[in-house]
Amino acid sequence: MRPKLTEEGVLEGARFIASPNFDERPAACGIELLVVHYISLPPGSFGGPAIEEFFTNRLDPRAHPFFATIANLKASAHFLVRRSGAVIQFVPCAKRAWHAGESTWRGKPRCNDFSIGIEVEGDEKKPFTAAQYRRLAALTRVLMARYPISEVVGHCDIAPSRKTDPGPQFDWARYRAMLGMNGRAVRRAGIGRRRRDALAGKTSALAARPRLRRRTPRRR
Ligand SMILES: [Zn+2]
Repeated sequence: MRPKLTEEGVLEGARFIASPNFDERPAACGIELLVVHYISLPPGSFGGPAIEEFFTNRLDPRAHPFFATIANLKASAHFLVRRSGAVIQFVPCAKRAWHAGESTWRGKPRCNDFSIGIEVEGDEKKPFTAAQYRRLAALTRVLMARYPISEVVGHCDIAPSRKTDPGPQFDWARYRAMLGMNGRAVRRAGIGRRRRDALAGKTSALAARPRLRRRTPRRR
């Protein structure tokens, strides 16, 4: 059964932990972009409470040397997908979460204005879990059914000089193939043709990358 979003864009049935790190989206600003991130706190460690603490400004800078370097940052994301596949929401989709920082997508700055940010618990070393791909794909389908999202990208694609997440372990081809279960989502994500090409053996799975990794953006 498909989960639902409330009017404000809160996912019914998911845990909601309110982050204070959000504000209003600019007037008349649509939600066009989905940004996938990874996070682990401390880096390389999974399952602890630090991500929730970080997004709610309760991270103890004395608890780990790395925490001291980020404890003053004010950050959030709309969603976190745990290793188990459990989804936690921190900011309603209607509001602007602070996940992308300085960023640009197709010449438009401040991606937080027009995007939804999903953190997937992980790092650059360990493969993401099957449960994470399942929940991420399900969540993506729900969001695409509700908002006019035209592309799904990684944080690395909108802030290439600063960010590498979701990193080399994130399997874009697998994620795209799972989204392919919904033809409309694939079409609207602009990844349908690439998936068909990959399935037809015209491009390798590795070559099928998010569109923004092309140096020259295409216009339709
Ligand atoms: Zn990120």
